[in-house]
Amino acid sequence: MVVCETIADLRAARANLPAPVGFVPTMGYLHAGHMALVHRAKQENAATVVSIFVNPIQFDRAEDLARYPRDLPRDMRLLEEAGVDLVFIPSVEEMYPAGFRTVVHVREITEVLEGKHRPGHFDGVTTVVTKLLNIVQPDRAYFGQKDAQQAIVVKQLVADLNIPVEIREVATVREPDGLALSSRNVLLSPAGRAVAPTLYRALRAAQTAWQGGERDADRLRAIAREELAQEPRIEVEYVSLADLETLQELEGEVRRGLLSLAAWIDGVRLIDNVRLESIQDTT
Ligand code: AMP
Repeated sequence: MVVCETIADLRAARANLPAPVGFVPTMGYLHAGHMALVHRAKQENAATVVSIFVNPIQFDRAEDLARYPRDLPRDMRLLEEAGVDLVFIPSVEEMYPAGFRTVVHVREITEVLEGKHRPGHFDGVTTVVTKLLNIVQPDRAYFGQKDAQQAIVVKQLVADLNIPVEIREVATVREPDGLALSSRNVLLSPAGRAVAPTLYRALRAAQTAWQGGERDADRLRAIAREELAQEPRIEVEYVSLADLETLQELEGEVRRGLLSLAAWIDGVRLIDNVRLESIQDTT
């Protein structure tokens, strides 16, 4: 496994990789969710590149950045064991040298959901993803459905800017109790961890009602909220049922949609989502 800290070294090592190249951008503190992306990239490409970069410009709160968990030696072991070819671990100065002035902004679909509650977050994401795609120049890049809005925004970005890469989405990996794997889960207190599966339970309650024939958008959002309200430790930021393309809130009868939520538990912000769509819609 080749490890590169500079863009120049990465470009030189990248030139020796066989095609097609799959790329998995991460912020590290790797878990089985990240590794699912890595395994998919390995299966579908001749070479796999992973980046680990805690991107400061996508954090809307300084304390969130300061306490973001990191364990580079462990990450390296996991990537080596998985058979990754190339790892890119740039410094902040390498990615944003003095004089850096460009922001990549995707309109409208970044102004709702996560974008509404985390000002500037998606400008940080789209700027770093554009840079990483330009640096690595992969044939395919892999993103998790755990961050559903991010995957939708990245697809819009590569389409609009004609970036020659195929974006592939990978299903959310969960703990046995349903909690979506996240690097932030380690920050939960034992009591917070105990109630955290309620987030997925709330989404599943609404999804089950939808599968049972409930189609009213308000009612479906309310079912999720009622489940969350059972746990006083959970402070809900939003519960949304939105159009899968425009991400605008749905009203009235729902044929398909993205049901998502953000909530605080013990000062830790967690997100999760499920899709409401019939088998016919997904094929
Ligand atoms: P992060 O390190 O949080 O920026 O995540 C890097 C990539 O891993 C993103 O595309 C995430 O959507 C994806 N990811 C994070 N958690 C999960 C999970 N539980 N299941 C699947 N993908 C995930």
